Amino acid sequence: MKTVTVSIVTPDGPAYDSEVTMVVTKTVSGEMGVLPGHIPMVAPLAVGAVKLKKQDGSTDYVAVSGGFIEIRPDKVSILAPSAESAASIDVARAKEALKRAEGRLQSKQDDIDFKRAEFALKRALNRINVHEGNI
Ligand code: ATP
Repeated sequence: MKTVTVSIVTPDGPAYDSEVTMVVTKTVSGEMGVLPGHIPMVAPLAVGAVKLKKQDGSTDYVAVSGGFIEIRPDKVSILAPSAESAASIDVARAKEALKRAEGRLQSKQDDIDFKRAEFALKRALNRINVHEGNI
């Protein structure tokens, strides 16, 4: 079975490296599946899960908070502001972040940055979903 090398990199360093048979990401214009030999392209990502199908039939899940995917026939690079594999997600922390973001979004105060709170809410929900395998 053909494979493609995938690396996910954040400002903190490499977050994931593996050979996979398929990558599925959430781009800003919808879900995109990438197989080995895909034509070169770059696309912006939404907050979402990256699904990585392995040769042994297992699937890895990584939560990313946006960024870009760069595709070449033999290599897929994802550059993201943050990325966590399912096992490394602190779900209690994500639930706290979710509560804070919900509180801000429901607040009637004028000085709330709603876009920022909405983005924080999406990051927290995505981490909870990836951790719980709810993808
Ligand atoms: P918080 O308010 O809990 O910091 P956040 O969404 O503002 O959440 P980010 O700015 O997206 O956090 O990420 C900051 C760093 O913390 C990144 O390295 C990210 O991978 C890590 N991180 C954030 N939340 C979690 C989590 N629930 N589990 C593991 N790592 C996390």
